[in-house]
Amino acid sequence: MARILVTGGAGFIGSHLCERLLNEGNEVICLDNFFTGSKDNIIHLMDNKRFELIRHDIIEPILLEVDKVYNLASPASPIHYQYNPVKTTKTNVMGIINMLGLAKRVRARILQASTSEVYGDPTVHPQKEDYWGNVNPIGPRSCYDEGKRVAETLMMDYHRQNGVDIRIVRIFNTYGPRMALNDGRVVSNFIVQALKGEDITVYGEGSQTRSFCYVSDLVDGLMRMMDQPEKGSGQGSVAGGQQNQVPFIGPVNIGNPHEHTILEFAEKIIAMTGSKSRISFNPLPQDDPRQRQPDITLAKEKLGWGPKVSIDEGLRLTIDYFKGKVGR
Ligand code: NAD
Ligand code: UDP
Repeated sequence: MARILVTGGAGFIGSHLCERLLNEGNEVICLDNFFTGSKDNIIHLMDNKRFELIRHDIIEPILLEVDKVYNLASPASPIHYQYNPVKTTKTNVMGIINMLGLAKRVRARILQASTSEVYGDPTVHPQKEDYWGNVNPIGPRSCYDEGKRVAETLMMDYHRQNGVDIRIVRIFNTYGPRMALNDGRVVSNFIVQALKGEDITVYGEGSQTRSFCYVSDLVDGLMRMMDQPEKGSGQGSVAGGQQNQVPFIGPVNIGNPHEHTILEFAEKIIAMTGSKSRISFNPLPQDDPRQRQPDITLAKEKLGWGPKVSIDEGLRLTIDYFKGKVGR
């Protein structure tokens, strides 16, 4: 049993992670400022004696004694991270400095939830971890993309300079129950629109692609990255490194490589919900990446990880969840 801090624990991914960690017998401290997270996501955990909830903003320091930190605190949907872009950069930069300071002080292992957005609008396809990306530093998405890139830099520098035990995971588009109804991301938007019989809002011509990973697969990948068996000590290997005797610190891509165009995806949701919704075409947001697909060779080799839940099964579970929410 370990004592584990999950920042952003009341959010979509964080709540599933808290649940899995508790199920495996750990003590979990869930820390959240409730910007995009919700008590509804964790209400079922509140009676568990090994679960603790703290309302706190990670841009402020905090003193806690823990063994491991999963740093997930950050808005993830474009509409939410662009709502207060200065705050988004602060959360990703000042927040990770505070969490790395905590990890350094108590010698905790820390995992950073990074993102496929560090690859920007990629010119390499599919994306491997050694690709440095194509990111606009001054656009509307930069607060998130660059914030997450600086967070990776800080993780590596605390590791090299202070010996902090780090893990970096680059999460690709993830979906599942507990995404917020008003989240603005494509999966929740399309399902809610289909269930309400509203137009499905495809941005641009819908030729851009994304690859969608079900949340339980993602959580499994995060935990394997955090808890991989120790193979030795010393400086960790970076992506593509050949040092098998040291823990693998990443970065590692975790995502489902099955790629869809957004138009195909809209048609799939209409078919699966049996909806009468029609597709409407809307302006493409600035700097919207044209294609995205993870290369997961490294996750397979180093963590023995691969996605298990098919898109049909994952969407069925997600549609069922939203039926309950939209119906209410
Ligand atoms: P989410 O918005 O549901 O969860 C984020 C949580 O962080 C929320 O509960 C929010 O209230 C909290 N939070 C935000 N700023 C905070 C702050 N300053 N202090 C404390 N708490 C704060 O998003 P999610 O989809 O669950 O994403 C979780 C993490 O995974 C994020 O770091 C995100 O960047 C990363 N990620 C997610 C995806 C995805 O497809 N869902 C893809 C790539 C990366
Ligand atoms: N998208 C869309 N309609 C929507 C919401 C999103 O066509 O109602 C598109 C969006 O332009 C992008 C893709 O779906 O190309 C994924 O968007 P999301 O916000 O889910 O994630 P991200 O762009 O961060 O991958």
